[in-house]
Amino acid sequence: MNILAAMEEFDHEELIFFQDKDVGLKAIVAIHNTVLGPALGGTRMRPYASEEEALKDVLRLSRGMTYKAAAAGLNLGGGKAVIIGDPKKDKSQTLFSVYGKFLNTLGGRYITAEDSGTDVNDIEYMFTETDYVVGIETSHGGSGDPSPFTALGVFQGIQACCSRVYGKDGVRGKTVVVQGVGNVGGKLARLLVGAGAKVVISDVDAGRVEQVKRDLSVEAVPADQVFGVACDIFAPCALGSVLNDATVNQLQCKIVAGGANNQLERPEHAEQLRQRGIIYAPDYVINAGGLMNVYLELEGYSRERAERMTRGIYYNLMQIFQLSDQMKITTAAAADRLAEQRLEKISRASAIFMPHKKDIVEKMRLRRRH
Ligand code: NAD
Repeated sequence: MNILAAMEEFDHEELIFFQDKDVGLKAIVAIHNTVLGPALGGTRMRPYASEEEALKDVLRLSRGMTYKAAAAGLNLGGGKAVIIGDPKKDKSQTLFSVYGKFLNTLGGRYITAEDSGTDVNDIEYMFTETDYVVGIETSHGGSGDPSPFTALGVFQGIQACCSRVYGKDGVRGKTVVVQGVGNVGGKLARLLVGAGAKVVISDVDAGRVEQVKRDLSVEAVPADQVFGVACDIFAPCALGSVLNDATVNQLQCKIVAGGANNQLERPEHAEQLRQRGIIYAPDYVINAGGLMNVYLELEGYSRERAERMTRGIYYNLMQIFQLSDQMKITTAAAADRLAEQRLEKISRASAIFMPHKKDIVEKMRLRRRH
């Protein structure tokens, strides 16, 4: 793999490799773009088959974070890290402490968080060595579990979709299919039932289905039949790539709006949804509540502020629907445009000369010494 060419393709700023053979650490940090602020994104741990696979993943994911933060209106850049290793057997306290020390060398240009393969314990070990980590426990002054905010954001996003399709907010009387009732889907189902929706759930984990059925008044369908259920809203909250050649034509809904990441297998599937008259809430816009929640750790965390910020997802989506109408493009393409427009505007604004700019102050200080 030609690394610099790969970085050039989507304009990544920096790629950093960390290794420590005594603790078995092999990590790559990708900083895609820091125009809006420090690059923030989780550390994923996975037994990648090759370094190339790990590199491709970290480059793709870090770029995704730039778009997610920009579309959410946050002053954050995009970054991501991967640790090559098996989370089931290669984890240790020392591995994450050493990793935390390495993160210090980046001086805050990259801030990490939990991702698949890492959990709150690993975050705590990193936190013993570095301040450049978010998503820490509430008992340590952090923001804690992000999933309630992700679910709240998806709920707000569903309201925006309803306003767009039915002319008014509110899910009362609407049928919503929730695919996957884990951390996000389970909490979303509760919010929907509370707001008067008829909720149909589906999960490959029978225990989870039973638990939700005990707690809430919902129906359940087998996992392989979920796409064909007649409903108003289909909410994917399980896996990526669920909108694909096999599923888009089966959908019997007016809206697709859920918390899962990377829902579209390919960009064409957004166009196919549009042609079928189905409104798609771009995944990285509707599921940004968790990111908003951890972001507030950098500014001094407040749960109330996190809730208020998460409610903004409603307006972010409305803006995207408007742009997609104006430009006659898919909502997915409109979300990318919105993010790119914000990056452009801020780049231009920061190019304006400001007399208090740090480099100028530094130069003046140097001049005084001569
Ligand atoms: P989770 O592991 O708690 O829940 C996922 C659920 O989906 C599980 O119950 C699992 O059994 C179920 N599932 C797996 N395959 C399925 C299938 N084929 N059909 C039906 N159900 C299936 O994960 P989570 O934290 O709730 O995250 C769900 C999705 O949302 C993921 O794509 C994640 O990347 C995304 N997301 C989560 C957050 C967050 O705050 N947790 C934030 C942003 C995005």
